[in-house]
Amino acid sequence: MEKTKLLTNLRGLITPDPSQSWKVDFIEAPVVALKNGHVDWIGGRAELPSEYANSEQIDGKGKWASPGFVDPHTHLIFGGDRSQEFNRRLHGVTYAQIASEGGGIRETVRATRQATVSELVNIGASRLQKMRSKGVLHVECKTGYGLELETESRLLQAYSELLKSGWSLDITIMPAHDIPVEYAGKPDEYIEVVSEEWQPELVRRHPNTASFCDVFVEKGVFTPEHGRRVLESGLRLGLKPRIHADEFVHTGGAELAAEFGAASADHLMFCSDQGMAAMAKAGVVPTLLPATTLFLGMRDFAPARRMIEAGCRVALASDFNPGSCACIDPLLILRLACLQLRMTFEEAFTAMTLHPALSLSRSDLGHLYPGARADLLLWDVKHPLELVYWMGEAYRPEIICASA
Ligand SMILES: [Zn+2]
Repeated sequence: MEKTKLLTNLRGLITPDPSQSWKVDFIEAPVVALKNGHVDWIGGRAELPSEYANSEQIDGKGKWASPGFVDPHTHLIFGGDRSQEFNRRLHGVTYAQIASEGGGIRETVRATRQATVSELVNIGASRLQKMRSKGVLHVECKTGYGLELETESRLLQAYSELLKSGWSLDITIMPAHDIPVEYAGKPDEYIEVVSEEWQPELVRRHPNTASFCDVFVEKGVFTPEHGRRVLESGLRLGLKPRIHADEFVHTGGAELAAEFGAASADHLMFCSDQGMAAMAKAGVVPTLLPATTLFLGMRDFAPARRMIEAGCRVALASDFNPGSCACIDPLLILRLACLQLRMTFEEAFTAMTLHPALSLSRSDLGHLYPGARADLLLWDVKHPLELVYWMGEAYRPEIICASA
């Protein structure tokens, strides 16, 4: 039988309650029993069941324990970076001008197509390591910077190798991220080849790797009808739908997500009231990306409060990508959620832990009640509110990993 470990000498523990939508518990001076890679018991020292009494102890050093953050929307692996473009835009050059010179996403696609699998693996591992050091212990990662079969396949191969080396990931197939130069002006033909040929071939080449598929439904990119074709193809292959929806204008992406019972609809800055009601009814997790809104210099953040009032279980994510959000910092997102989305600390914390885990069908992540994976963060604070309140502070959690 596996040895039990006791995490003791904690100042406190913060965890969402997984049996409810929005309840966060703050437990003072708790003890956590870890067994068989999972949390077995939490409670006060005085109530500790005798079976745990002689267990090996881990010193919590007077810190606060929390579950790891779950990031449910990243474009983790891409070649190159676009810092030069970033500054050109600050100098007043428009994205349209940069794109017409072959820059923008085309530059990223070019750099990604040139990278070998081992280069892509190294890029992914170093970014995951940075995220982990900031407390993100599970990450959803998309393909979508190949925009042709062989590079999309290499991206999946790289993600598959990261999975094998022990990273906790969910993988999403997303060739329908943009229209590649080869199909410029021909979105119908591109969606046809993605839905009928590439997605089936990618799943055939990389079985047991991806769990989801995704499509960018947006004015000037793909229509809801295109989205429907991509998601239907995904469903036939056993891939659950996620959707980039209603980012710059209302296109009906949230309604489409509800129609498909999608795991999530993401962005949603221009989501309609009907879309919110439909997502709440269908159990779609609206996933908001406030660091993208900040990075793009947009004024209006997604209407989180209206979504919560409509009954949606809102999640937050980084949207890490080279063009619209070069950010992997969970504390920045937590702070933006409180300061710009007008979420309470408890809501924002739940939206970075329990709700993203829900959208990824991971019932053992995002909380610390019995059954949770035994991976915890220890924060050197007097109270978790400090993580938001001391706004520029770069807190680094100690990571307790007893799940392996
Ligand atoms: Zn995205």
